[in-house]
Amino acid sequence: MTGSKWGGRRASRLRAATFDAWGTVCHICGLPGADSADHVIPRSLGGPDTLDNLRPAHLACNQRRGNSPLKGPPVTVVCGPPAAGKTTYVREHARPGDVVIDFDAIAVALQPPGAHSHDHPAAILRVAAAARQAAVAAATNVRGQARHVWLIDSMPTPKRRGGYKASGWRVVTIDPGHDVVMSRAVQRPAHALDAIARWYGDDPVTSTTPDPSRDW
Ligand SMILES: [Zn+2]
Repeated sequence: MTGSKWGGRRASRLRAATFDAWGTVCHICGLPGADSADHVIPRSLGGPDTLDNLRPAHLACNQRRGNSPLKGPPVTVVCGPPAAGKTTYVREHARPGDVVIDFDAIAVALQPPGAHSHDHPAAILRVAAAARQAAVAAATNVRGQARHVWLIDSMPTPKRRGGYKASGWRVVTIDPGHDVVMSRAVQRPAHALDAIARWYGDDPVTSTTPDPSRDW
């Protein structure tokens, strides 16, 4: 679509889809109320009109940015199946002052003391997903001022993976292998076993539907 004009019904549809996928916190200034979709890789530099390459932004921030590259903090996305050792990897590499965004840790923080570290009630999952989206938006924008942002995302969808790439974020995959993961996962809830099966392309262990909030 490069070369075609950005506007009309197609642009408003993409704008709505961008808000759905990424929320309405401006990715440039980190404040809420975004009313436009900004191209991470500018259209003039060949950036496509796809959701991977679009982020919510205030129209004013979008216009001020123009075609300049984004200068947010370095971001490392840590992927891998449940029980792969993602949290351990971050513990070993992150330094004081870094921002660590871990869905399970957020979910635990939203519950009374003693909550399960990997199995959360549905209502908590929803709140944690919103908190995580807000944390990513606040930490990774140009004014986030984090030294380094670590984002644990077990199994990003191809769309989300594309989004990380477009943003220039480093994606690290932790995968010690099926047998190691399965031996560690005995204490994990059923959805974790499902996720492991999906990661390795096995037949699903149970038939629960994957929780969309876990794909993020
Ligand atoms: Zn803004």
